[in-house]
Amino acid sequence: MELIDTHAHLQWPAFDKDRKQVIERAFTAGLNAIVSVGYDLSASREATKIADDHEGIYAVVGIHPHNAKAMNASTLDSLRELAHDPKVVAIGEIGLDYYRDLSPRARQKEAFEQQIRLANELELPIVIHDREAHYDVLEVLRRFGKDANGILHCFSGDLRMTEEVIEMGYLISIAGPVTYPNAKKLHRLVQHLPDESIVLETDCPFLPPQSRRGERNEPLFVVETAHKVAELRGIQFDELVELTSQNAKRAFRIR
Ligand SMILES: [Zn+2]
Ligand SMILES: [Zn+2]
Repeated sequence: MELIDTHAHLQWPAFDKDRKQVIERAFTAGLNAIVSVGYDLSASREATKIADDHEGIYAVVGIHPHNAKAMNASTLDSLRELAHDPKVVAIGEIGLDYYRDLSPRARQKEAFEQQIRLANELELPIVIHDREAHYDVLEVLRRFGKDANGILHCFSGDLRMTEEVIEMGYLISIAGPVTYPNAKKLHRLVQHLPDESIVLETDCPFLPPQSRRGERNEPLFVVETAHKVAELRGIQFDELVELTSQNAKRAFRIR
């Protein structure tokens, strides 16, 4: 099947009791790779450790905008050090979250920019979190867009933003909410995306697909998202799996 979950949080405490089984279920069903994404320093360390312990699991290290206020001078050095692990494939998730505003916006921006610079220095892609901050995310990307590339995860921008970030070379990641019957805007977006710009994710343990609403999400459930995206684009499931996996491998430079 060769599906890739490009954005999971396997280190989240929700998986403490059965992490091993969750990972086994996904690979037994035929997933090809899982990318586990950090949100603070210890989660980044955990993600890296899980990746080191499992074939097919990769790590992304970075400080989520929620945690930007906790960043200090040594945080970037610690991330730089972690990023030297061969299983670390990107810096993230980084970005701006004006929905929950858990860190002051100025601090969020500073952390976002510092971590893009780090990614550029290390020649790694970035994984971007953007919640109700489209305008400012674009503004930051316009300034750094030439040098950086990567994935906008759980994307919710409009078609104009989509065109602009695709033009800069970014990929768009689609998560479980695309399976919700009322997600009309997301359905249109999925129909509009070029083949080479789309990847899939779960963002587990959050955002379960329609048939699992109310439950904990896990990497295996990316299959339901893939079926919905294939249906929306009017292509075969296998074809969708093939193209999204190629895109993910290219973005993260994995084989
Ligand atoms: Zn996010
Ligand atoms: Zn996430």
